[in-house]
Amino acid sequence: MVEKVYVTYNDVHKLCQEAAPKILAQFKPQLIIAIGGGGYVPARILRSFLKQPGSPNIPIQAIGLSLYEQLPVTDNANAGTGVVDQIGTKVTRTQWLDLSSLGEMQNLVGKRILIVDEVDDTRTTLEYAVKELEKDVEEARQKLGTNTEKTEFSIFVLHNKDKKKKGVLPSNMMEESRYLAARTIGDEWICYPWEATDIDAHDELAKKQLNGNGAVKAQ
Ligand code: 5GP
Repeated sequence: MVEKVYVTYNDVHKLCQEAAPKILAQFKPQLIIAIGGGGYVPARILRSFLKQPGSPNIPIQAIGLSLYEQLPVTDNANAGTGVVDQIGTKVTRTQWLDLSSLGEMQNLVGKRILIVDEVDDTRTTLEYAVKELEKDVEEARQKLGTNTEKTEFSIFVLHNKDKKKKGVLPSNMMEESRYLAARTIGDEWICYPWEATDIDAHDELAKKQLNGNGAVKAQ
């Protein structure tokens, strides 16, 4: 059975606070792209900790990605046997960059962009996000002329699950430490506070876990 781990708003806040100096030292992002819905709250908290005196807030853009498990497909030979031939995974865009408020895609060219999500599980979503954003930005860069500086993407997640990943991230992103997970955990199911329908019960469960068995501690 997959163990559930309860994470509170305070945990999330403190994980962002702890990560911010590392993000400033390593990436110095000029734009944040939050992957919705889990990346929204961490991105907003992070922005407060990334704010530099005398500089404006780092803008946050949102993209919505959803990982759909395809329905099991059976062929005629297997019809009625319930044997599954193929189970695929597919990321679907539910929202993409607001190009009107960004001016043009060209505005992303040459920037340091931090992609924020709550959890890196199979890595399918992050692979999709990086690939698609890189593709869009490269297209814009070509339009501007090849002398333009390259856009640099980095990633921040609250939790990375230490497991075999389906998705792959660019090797230079990992080598250049442009990937940061506040915590690396086992293959557990994390219950985030924004999903809770009863936040008091959620926080109670988190507290019990802290006092008892293997919780993810923020501090
Ligand atoms: P991926 O498998 O592509 O890395 O993750 C896809 C999405 O699945 C995540 O963005 C997140 O919304 C959801 N997900 C994966 N693992 C967990 C988890 O432990 N807890 C919650 N709440 N969502 C998860």
